Amino acid sequence: MGTTHDQVYDVAIIGGGSAGLSAALILARARRSAVVIDAGAPRNAPAAAAHGLLGQEGVNPLELLERGRQEAASYGARNLQGDVHRASGSAEDGFTLVLNDDSTIRAGQLLIATGVRDDLPSIPGLAERWGRDIVHCPYCHGWEIRDQRIGLLATGPMSAMQALLFHQWSEQMTFFPNGLEFPADQLEKVRALGITIVPGQLHGVDVVDDRLTAAVMDDGGQVGLDALAVPALTTARLDGLDELGVDVAENAAGVAIVADPAGHTSVPGVWAAGNVVNPGMQVSESAANGARVAMTINTEMVFARADRTIADSSNTVGA
Ligand SMILES: Cc1cc2nc3c(=O)[nH]c(=O)nc-3n(C[C@H](O)[C@H](O)[C@H](O)COP(=O)(O)OP(=O)(O)OC[C@H]3O[C@@H](n4cnc5c(N)ncnc54)[C@H](O)[C@@H]3O)c2cc1C
Repeated sequence: MGTTHDQVYDVAIIGGGSAGLSAALILARARRSAVVIDAGAPRNAPAAAAHGLLGQEGVNPLELLERGRQEAASYGARNLQGDVHRASGSAEDGFTLVLNDDSTIRAGQLLIATGVRDDLPSIPGLAERWGRDIVHCPYCHGWEIRDQRIGLLATGPMSAMQALLFHQWSEQMTFFPNGLEFPADQLEKVRALGITIVPGQLHGVDVVDDRLTAAVMDDGGQVGLDALAVPALTTARLDGLDELGVDVAENAAGVAIVADPAGHTSVPGVWAAGNVVNPGMQVSESAANGARVAMTINTEMVFARADRTIADSSNTVGA
């Protein structure tokens, strides 16, 4: 039998990346009891540094989150290392989370900030180098690979446009359609910028001294590269959370939770923030989104308390 924590938290936050921890910081400072349960695998963990982050430029992603945990804890938020295996309940009766060690957490509101899983094409060598010289986002990695030989491996309908974007960082660009068809006007733009288009299927990558050196094609030909951009498809990390019944939808990048800008999902009392809602959000945006959603959670709890107090006093007057 696992431990059942006696406390019923105001808010339980599943996922302690930038979105979840930022929400915990705001909620704890708003004098709400908040617990963050985190499995410890933020999406950008394979990268050595997080870029484009004002005031924290180049910080190690895991170091950033450790600071965030300490900041939230300094105002009373509780950080638990663990994996939520099951979530159930409702806004009326409260929510219950079961963790991987069978312990149980209860809370009045639930915030899902579990991020996404990046699904790479099953080509040998890509996963091992992910976040190093196999990259997905020019704003995260573009500066570090500027003026180098960059390839872009097509994975979906946006890929020709993504090749154009990466060209802003290097004129030595190669586009691999990898068997996908693209509209003529998009290919015209790709050619107009001098991006080389290489037909055929990408079979693997060549690595020398722990550095990417080439893309290997299915006919055995090689194309020299220093970095390969792979726009991975993304899937909201919702394992074990299906009982809650939140709506999800497919977008151009994969599958995400449907939530409004304030973080309301289709289920009352269940909120969502960060990449699990929008995989395009950077660290700063995910943190800002977590903060905004936390402010709305707190505000709605304040209003709900006022409504309950009015209802209770009218019942007393009428008694
Ligand atoms: C390789 C790479 C490099 C990147 N580089 C940059 C960069 O330089 N700059 C930048 O701004 N952005 C960068 N990003 C984007 C950045 O990773 C995201 O913006 C950010 O991680 C989103 O934060 P999040 O809190 O939504 O999700 P995450 O950071 O992914 O955090 C979610 C957390 O929830 C946990 N979790 C999931 N399911 C459960 C569960 N059931 N129970 C408990 N915990 C759970 C996970 O383990 C994880 O710790 C990069 C992304 C990748 C893939």
